[in-house]
Amino acid sequence: MIRPFLFFSFCFFSALVSAQVNYKPDPSVDIIHYEFNIILNDTTDMIDGTALIDINFKEMVTSFDFDLKNINSFGKGMKISDLSFNGSGVNWVHSDNKVKITPVIPPAKGSSCEVFIKYSGIPADGLIISKNKFGSRTFFADHWPDRGSCYLPVVDHPSDKATVDFIITAPSHYEVVASGHLVEFSDLPKEMKLTHWKEEVPLPVKVMTFAAADFAVQLAGIVNNVPVWTWVFPENRKEGFYDYSVAVKPLAFYSNLIGPYSYEKLADVQSKTIFGGLENAGCIFYAENSVTGLGKAEGLIAHEIAHQWFGNSVTEADWHHIWLSEGFATYLASVYNETNSGKGKLTEDMKFARDRIIRSFIRSPVPVIDTTSTNLMRLLNTNSYQKGAWILHMLRFKLGDCAITGLSLFF
Ligand SMILES: [Zn+2]
Repeated sequence: MIRPFLFFSFCFFSALVSAQVNYKPDPSVDIIHYEFNIILNDTTDMIDGTALIDINFKEMVTSFDFDLKNINSFGKGMKISDLSFNGSGVNWVHSDNKVKITPVIPPAKGSSCEVFIKYSGIPADGLIISKNKFGSRTFFADHWPDRGSCYLPVVDHPSDKATVDFIITAPSHYEVVASGHLVEFSDLPKEMKLTHWKEEVPLPVKVMTFAAADFAVQLAGIVNNVPVWTWVFPENRKEGFYDYSVAVKPLAFYSNLIGPYSYEKLADVQSKTIFGGLENAGCIFYAENSVTGLGKAEGLIAHEIAHQWFGNSVTEADWHHIWLSEGFATYLASVYNETNSGKGKLTEDMKFARDRIIRSFIRSPVPVIDTTSTNLMRLLNTNSYQKGAWILHMLRFKLGDCAITGLSLFF
């Protein structure tokens, strides 16, 4: 991810919605699969949702829970109207932004279950319902770090990855893109359209996503049998197709350097993300102003594509280890620059990073893995990005390029 442009004012806002840094999910509960059916409309911001959730129990539990924001004082949040456990009624409570489920017979160690939840409400966050810069209504699921649970019942923590189906019903003028591969798009009565995307690679909730908007769509290329698609607002069709088509280059570079790409496709999407870019798995969101028609998005795109390996395929077990995501993405984007523009560009990047680290350390001398931080958004700091990159740069110097299998292919 690239941090939001208005980072400090955003931190204040984010503190209101995201402060679960010490939240640890129950290790006895393993989410295997989510199926989300979500109905969108053009008259209100209310969504109707159902979730079908497959769970394995690693130990016997007497109760278990999901994260789902309750309705707040502004009337935003989700209200559950029905919930069942293996097709039958069950005791449940939705309070303090948790759905607690207590089966009559505790699930045994090694057993599986299916939970069905029907709910509706106006998302307080996580699903951005707004207008783009051309005045068109858009929907963007923007989950990082733990904003997905504003409108989806999930275990909203990076340690519990699951496969996911997004089945989106929306007015028929919208195009819908999501993580995974396209399974179905069908016209429905009353000028509605159903679009179904299936992701068969387990993901943390922070990077599973969908979007519904008026899009122009182009195949930018195919890299090692992975289709690379560009999704941009129709008014930016020409500029966006040009700017985002460069994505095939870093995808090919990292595929050769690190290993096979994990996902079914890559979609590069012009969006309303609150970040400069957000590395959603196989469906990367870029801020809408990243499209200029001047080919200036390559660095941003290289960073977000590097996350497909680090952060998405290999995921930090807890938030405090985010440098494993951002440090790798920052450094790999510099290694990509080095290959394109020579050693001098890498040196320039690392000097810039070093200066930022020194200034940051004088201001706030905290370690890279800072377990005292209580705001997840504040983990998006110089330590996670630039110092993380420097740790890898120093390791590379110590080990040598030849000791690193991938790098030895290139240097
Ligand atoms: Zn990043």
